[in-house]
Amino acid sequence: MSHIHSSSPQSRRELTVDDYFNGVRAGDRAILARSLTLVESHSPRHIPTAEALLARLLPFTGNSIRVGITGVPGAGKSTLIEALGLHLIDQGQSVAVLAVDPSSRVSGGSILGDKTRMPRLSTAVNANIRPSPAAQTLGGVARKTRESLLVCEAAGFDVVLVETVGVGQSETVVADMTDCFVALMLPGAGDELQGIKRGLLEVVDVLAVNKADGERRFAAELAAQQYRMALQSLVGRSQTPAVLLCSALENTGIAEVWQAIASHHQRLSASGNLSAKRKAQNLYSLRMQLDEQLRSLFEQHSAIQRLRPEIERQVLSGALLASTGARRLMESFARSEYSGSPAKSIDHPSD
Ligand code: GDP
Repeated sequence: MSHIHSSSPQSRRELTVDDYFNGVRAGDRAILARSLTLVESHSPRHIPTAEALLARLLPFTGNSIRVGITGVPGAGKSTLIEALGLHLIDQGQSVAVLAVDPSSRVSGGSILGDKTRMPRLSTAVNANIRPSPAAQTLGGVARKTRESLLVCEAAGFDVVLVETVGVGQSETVVADMTDCFVALMLPGAGDELQGIKRGLLEVVDVLAVNKADGERRFAAELAAQQYRMALQSLVGRSQTPAVLLCSALENTGIAEVWQAIASHHQRLSASGNLSAKRKAQNLYSLRMQLDEQLRSLFEQHSAIQRLRPEIERQVLSGALLASTGARRLMESFARSEYSGSPAKSIDHPSD
């Protein structure tokens, strides 16, 4: 990967939308990195440029295979992503990796550690490791990751891997922006199914039991068997997800994992369902963002901020019905001359 040192005057120069656009389309890694920073920026100063850039890039998006990968910490996601990335690069494909870490909301930082956890991939020519910085809310994380994905796509990556830690709702958020959702599981001691959320089984397209090596091989086979049965018993899925064994560390089963992802994608694409899925995802994203923006507009509203503590106090003490309290707040919101606040204050409230 080429790096322009950040202290060079060239890289410090403010880039125009044209500069960003041309750089991304030309596959310039330094400009791509800056474009991702721009899109992920929380600064109101950057938002118009980011939006203009995304609008320019949009016609060039849609051509990569979008893969989500989830798994508990320690499942081997980084190791698998490196193995999978190298496998793809060997096949002549280019790979971008985005990481979503909802817990970074707490730590307040990006998961830069991944860069060092994937030493070989980050030096491979076609790979670009890009951790997504934290946004304030899950919706904010989702929006920024989705937009980063589009930038990578417009830069011409064949495959975009979106990694998420299997915590809270982050996995459904990633499932809602990718074509194929992969769950990486650990071989356990017979109680695998207890820890797995039903929601995950409903969105997973490929399930891989990792660490199927050494003494854990047998436990991994057992776990795979149980997952197969659990997945088969789920009604309403047109295609039963593939369940595979792999060892990211020993690099076994990796080609098969990729094959399962590629076949799933191929099936979606051939049936016309890929386009339908992506359209539905876009609509869902619009609705999610509207929900968040409306909520934020409401919560930041001066009349609501004034009234709410008193209404909450009355509801808490039992003096007021919750529904009456909600109605009063809504009425006050609707009445207020500020209910049509300037767009500036509602722009990206989740950041
Ligand atoms: P992540 O937290 O899901 O990203 O997990 P990592 O990729 O960081 O892996 C966690 C630990 O498991 C590391 O010590 C890895 O070396 C180890 N690990 C990852 N994949 C395998 C595997 O296939 N087999 C074995 N035995 N260890 C693995």
